[in-house]
Amino acid sequence: MRNSIIIAVFLIITFFTLRASFDGSHKKEKDLPSETVAGDASSPPEEYREIKGNIKKGETLFDIFKKYGISIADLFRLKEASAGVHRLRELYPGRQYSIMLDTDDRINSFVYWINDDTILNITRTESGFSAEKVPVQYEKKIFNIAGIIEDNLVSAIGDGRENLMVALELSDIFAWDIDFTTDFRKGDLFKVIVEGLYLDGEFRKYGHILSAEFQNNGDIYRAYRFGDGEDADYFDPEGKSLRKAFLKAPLNYRRISSGFSNGRFHPILKINRPHHGIDYSAPRGTPVSVVGDGTVIFAGYKGQFGKLVIVKHHNGYKTYYGHLSRIGKGIKKGTKVKQGQIIARVGATGLATGPHLHYEMRVNNKPVNPYRIKAPRVDSVPERLMAGFRKYRDEMNARLTSLNPPVLALAEEKSGDRI
Ligand SMILES: [Zn+2]
Repeated sequence: MRNSIIIAVFLIITFFTLRASFDGSHKKEKDLPSETVAGDASSPPEEYREIKGNIKKGETLFDIFKKYGISIADLFRLKEASAGVHRLRELYPGRQYSIMLDTDDRINSFVYWINDDTILNITRTESGFSAEKVPVQYEKKIFNIAGIIEDNLVSAIGDGRENLMVALELSDIFAWDIDFTTDFRKGDLFKVIVEGLYLDGEFRKYGHILSAEFQNNGDIYRAYRFGDGEDADYFDPEGKSLRKAFLKAPLNYRRISSGFSNGRFHPILKINRPHHGIDYSAPRGTPVSVVGDGTVIFAGYKGQFGKLVIVKHHNGYKTYYGHLSRIGKGIKKGTKVKQGQIIARVGATGLATGPHLHYEMRVNNKPVNPYRIKAPRVDSVPERLMAGFRKYRDEMNARLTSLNPPVLALAEEKSGDRI
């Protein structure tokens, strides 16, 4: 049985400084630094004309070409050239584009921002147009964020979409160790070292979390991002992957928090343990995630459990999810499920006074406390990379140790070029 947690938010001046730079960058976002997007270093001659803007709702390239009197035949050539790289048929409102016209008003280059991280770059060559996708070259700075949790992570980390993203990524990193919906105690604290991505000297967004620390209920958890590109993962101080066979909780903080902006979001998820299982009070319809890979062995109605899903995992483990309002489509006996997959929605079927999830774990049919089981961490940093990992870890530890919360979103001037 736990009490709900008291609410208070720490807002620090450095944070407002950051907000100011968000606002200041708004106008700037429309400018497209040509040296950033052009594949080569030579900038076009002065007399070239640049047309740039952001795609308006419902606007097509045909509209834009017509508006500026640009050759429609060139438009077809652009589309043809980019066909194997990125389909130019679908343009998204708000995305930037830039068309460079030469002195004869012929297209010299066409640039379109596919997303925040990728640019489509089409240039005229002697044999026609050539298209390529180019990663956006952000300048990176390292941000230190730290705070004390009084209510929940989202409110502790501060306002705004960017802070929400950091909170959610943090909850994903520690999802095997900390139940972000219920585990917090007043005074728990977090520290985050995160990339801040800049274009043209303006803050655009946060990048990867490089390392993080949580002091939760007397325990200290640390995570370090290590590895190349998309293969990078988070490891503990010993170099073991933070991933385990079971997530800490069947209610996913990201899924609950997404779509809420700070201030309106207070997930009061109380836990009661009147029996073998754990009861999470949560709004009807809250997604229920399976805590580990496994196979569904029961999905249907069962007495006081109401609508129930039972999943069998390795080593004699089973997990039970009861009182559901809905069982996910395709979730039936024999279905293979992946860790974190949504299998059902919270409800109040069976013997339940209000919407809540009944969650239970059994080993060889004996109930166990899922919070107490010691699931081993399986993957590790490969031995040949351990020396590099330890060096990186020690560097990050020095940063984490020097951080004393509350410090919200304080950027260091130093660029993180090694990272
Ligand atoms: Zn129950």
